Amino acid sequence: MSRLIAPHGGGELKPLLLYGDELKNEIEKAKGLTQIKMGSRETSDLIMLGIGAFTPLEGFMGYADWKGVCDEMKMANGIFWPIPITLSTTKGQADSLSIGEEVALIDEETSELMGSMKVMEKYTIDKEHECQQVFRTTAQAHPGVHKVMSQKEVNIAGPVKVFNELHYPAEYGVKYMRPAQTRAIFQEKGWNTVAALQLRNPMHRAHEHLAKIAVEICDGLLIHQLVGKLKEGDIPAKTRVKAIDVLVENYFVKDTCIQGVYPMEMRYAGPREALLHGVFRQNYGCSHLLIGRDHAGVGDYYGPYDAQRIFDEVPQEGLLISPLKINLTFYCTKCDGMASTKTCPHDVSFRVNLSGTMLRKMLSEDQVIPDHFSRPEVLEVLKEYYATLDEKVEIKLHKHVFGEK
Ligand SMILES: [Zn+2]
Repeated sequence: MSRLIAPHGGGELKPLLLYGDELKNEIEKAKGLTQIKMGSRETSDLIMLGIGAFTPLEGFMGYADWKGVCDEMKMANGIFWPIPITLSTTKGQADSLSIGEEVALIDEETSELMGSMKVMEKYTIDKEHECQQVFRTTAQAHPGVHKVMSQKEVNIAGPVKVFNELHYPAEYGVKYMRPAQTRAIFQEKGWNTVAALQLRNPMHRAHEHLAKIAVEICDGLLIHQLVGKLKEGDIPAKTRVKAIDVLVENYFVKDTCIQGVYPMEMRYAGPREALLHGVFRQNYGCSHLLIGRDHAGVGDYYGPYDAQRIFDEVPQEGLLISPLKINLTFYCTKCDGMASTKTCPHDVSFRVNLSGTMLRKMLSEDQVIPDHFSRPEVLEVLKEYYATLDEKVEIKLHKHVFGEK
């Protein structure tokens, strides 16, 4: 009997990926269906549905779920859910579809057949309302808002069958773990409580400190890297994965943590996204989620600890996973050790702290990185990456760096 946390919604994991003969038959059938082109966010959501990370969802959301999720973080069946998971198409195409019709789902970028959906509903939404509720802003400069505002005119909803996980299994091998796989690993290791560390940046001393606080509290740690789409200028997933490998190898006790990758795209929805990160980490078998400063945020849209506070608004039965709220961490030269804003009383001038943007700039210019900011093995991996960038990319990167506040 597993002592791991139950999947979200109280039932079993619900992976929607097909295998074997069923998969073959459905692919054959899909060849004759109307094709719906999905953007990268929609494709990544479909894969999350496929692997069971979005349990208990069975497909893309209809209007009642969309509305309930936007306004009350609750689906029509009463189950907690923080961000709408929807699919859109053009008005022309929606008009041509009849209710009950099956459609083929195609990834716009690669033209790959990703799955199929039975269309049970067609509806239009107030996109600005969704943005205000989910992102707390309607500013088009916000990358998540921009995506929602650029969606096509009509949402279509219904249960899906998933055929394809794109390149992820081939590219990431054993690190690409589906929720059933992490659960099996945790059980094999005898872990009952597992903390997840969400990462989309390289892991420096501050993250290492966070991670080790979690290792002290829980049986194990899942370092969980996002490998779906990011903003331009962010460090590619493969480099980040390699940098974490060297860190874990050199600075963690064996068998206290594992690294995995997951295929979702960032929405940068700050607090609401932190909750979504909780929902699917619970499906992966994690009992705790580390929430640091400005979790899943972008720019100045969210207060530094909004993503910690929002967990207090969720009714207790809504979400089983617990947040591990840790304030900003850094090396303090006066404390002579790692500390946080909760434990270090000294002035900010004693802190060794670099923003990701600053570090990118320093590494790409081959400057010396201050002591105690990162581990030398990690910096070596990052430097290797910057050395491979050709001049054109570097100029673009610099433009990006200086373009940021
Ligand atoms: Zn201090």
